[in-house]
Amino acid sequence: MNAPFAAPNDRKPYDYLVVGAGFAGSVIAERLASQHGARVLVIDRRNHIGGNAYDEPNEAGILYHKYGPHIFHTNSDAVVDYLSQFTEWRPYEHRVRASVRDKLVPIPINRTTLNELFGLDLKTDEEAAEYLASRAEPVDEIKNSEDVVINAVGRELYELFFQGYTRKQWGIDPSELDKSVTARIPTRTNTDDRYFTDKFQAMPSGGYTAMFKRILGHPLIEVRTGVDFSDFRDRWKQIADHLVFTGPIDEYFDHRFGKLPYRSLKFDHQTLEQERFQETGTVNYPSPDIPYTRISEYKHLTGQEHPRTTITYEYPSAEGDPYYPIPRPENQELFKRYEELADSTEDVTFVGRLATYRYYNMDQIVGQALATFRRMDEKRGTRGSS
Ligand code: FAD
Ligand code: UDP
Repeated sequence: MNAPFAAPNDRKPYDYLVVGAGFAGSVIAERLASQHGARVLVIDRRNHIGGNAYDEPNEAGILYHKYGPHIFHTNSDAVVDYLSQFTEWRPYEHRVRASVRDKLVPIPINRTTLNELFGLDLKTDEEAAEYLASRAEPVDEIKNSEDVVINAVGRELYELFFQGYTRKQWGIDPSELDKSVTARIPTRTNTDDRYFTDKFQAMPSGGYTAMFKRILGHPLIEVRTGVDFSDFRDRWKQIADHLVFTGPIDEYFDHRFGKLPYRSLKFDHQTLEQERFQETGTVNYPSPDIPYTRISEYKHLTGQEHPRTTITYEYPSAEGDPYYPIPRPENQELFKRYEELADSTEDVTFVGRLATYRYYNMDQIVGQALATFRRMDEKRGTRGSS
């Protein structure tokens, strides 16, 4: 990047440069512009805004998610209130089936799963709890993602639902992964077959990209896509006073302590000549013999009516865009070294899933960005009064 950022006078053309137009970068940019009256330049190396939540209509006119299915759910009123300034909502509760032993059964495992899989007739929560207790293998100290599941449901269900899926998704065994990963999936004794139980579950009515356009629509925000920070990292101080970085933290510091591991995915999007493909928004395929982890069908999520339908297969991959930080102790140790560097880098703020190396959902990233803005705001207040 050269001439476009020449300042008309001594003042730099922008107060802030924000790298990344996903949730983290967009929310921070909006807060800085609307609350501080700051002039903000947002760049993204992709040719669009929205980060991994980006959606667009495909050639058939069906709204699909380019980077895999994104379902919004949260227990945070603050996050809902914030985003509701920029979108209306369409209520949607996600349901998932797992393809196991030639049956499609509810996941998270619930009473229906047990009855359908094992030909049982468990009628109450108590009966299901007793049954699970008879299969569970209590683990004294739950240390990893295998322990979590074995402790709750025993080895057979672990192998059927979790072992194969997790090995495919992460490229390592569940015993090598932090317990927080499979702990995302509860076990239920009732027949609630929703994937999430958060009090707010809905999709932005016009889609995510439309919501991002409004978040970034403030007149003090300028957005440039197809621009990679690494192309002018040595010169950014010529154009802005402060940098907000939402890309991978190890990349920012030139991988000086080594690369932080990320897991990637390949998406196979297909549009079919049929109105409906599957009974729920997502079907999971835990079997090690099937190379993909899940298939999602967007019309369930969006409510769109169309004679055709678009689905996405997810194939986990070691190569490609960094989608998932891999939660395990040695990676956290490495991240901490980068975090120390980040903490001592005064004029740069690190925020978002990749910059803080956290396996966070969208609502958690919005919450993190709002909290980060509050801290920036307090710092500014302190400086202002001194
Ligand atoms: P991102 O969305 O990754 O945005 C970072 C942006 O920075 C990217 O656009 C990138 O191009 C840009 N960037 C990075 N480096 C540079 C650079 N050097 N120069 C310029 N630009 C740069 N969450 C949910 O709540 N519900 C779900 O159902 C859900 N499903 C998911 C499914 C998949 C397959 C994946 C991968 C994630 C899912 N998530 C879901 C998580 C969700 O995607 C994230 O929480 C959220 O998108 C993180 O926002 P972010 O701004 O931190 O990062
Ligand atoms: N998981 C599994 N089987 C399933 C669903 C999930 O083993 O049918 C494990 C797997 O390790 C996965 C993790 O639980 O990565 C979290 O699942 P989630 O659906 O939250 O993953 P995400 O949507 O973030 O990819």
